[in-house]
Amino acid sequence: MVTVYLALGSNLGERQVYMQRAVQEMAALGCTERIAPLYESAPYGERAQPAFLNSALGLATSLTPQALLNGLKTIEQKLGRKARRRWGPREIDLDIIFFGQEMVQEAGLTIPHYDYRRRRFVLQPLADIAPDFIAPDTRLPLWRLLADCPDTTPLKPLQNNWMTDDAQL
Ligand code: AMP
Repeated sequence: MVTVYLALGSNLGERQVYMQRAVQEMAALGCTERIAPLYESAPYGERAQPAFLNSALGLATSLTPQALLNGLKTIEQKLGRKARRRWGPREIDLDIIFFGQEMVQEAGLTIPHYDYRRRRFVLQPLADIAPDFIAPDTRLPLWRLLADCPDTTPLKPLQNNWMTDDAQL
């Protein structure tokens, strides 16, 4: 088993419901160990789109990186994500940020995620649940990468217990 760290985002429709259902579906892929608080962030990249909900989780899994990616894509499709342009709005987006200390460079899969260090909406929730996790690419802890993150896009903390709340966002 290895602990992997995943980022979740949604900016279309019943955003919190998509996030909640995605976490529930993760039970097919492993055992959820930590769930980060929920944040709302202004869109990154393409700015003219609805605000995102973001969070992160730690999952203990025995899958390979590629099998985990396939499982996440299956969840995205099951939850009704339509194929859309990169950077555009999406019902649910599930990214593998870290796969333990493994570095993966394969067709269609890069771990650590290629842009995680420049995204506050990824680093903040990850640092909430695993501040002392050492990123295998930089050998720096997440609290330090968050402190050094150049992204100034506003990030608004919402609920901590968002999995058990009635979805309202
Ligand atoms: P998007 O959902 O728009 O963020 O892009 C998803 C695509 O990025 C997938 O089809 C993956 O093949 C590719 N990809 C590469 N590295 C990763 C990663 N670490 N986590 C998730 N998707 C990845």
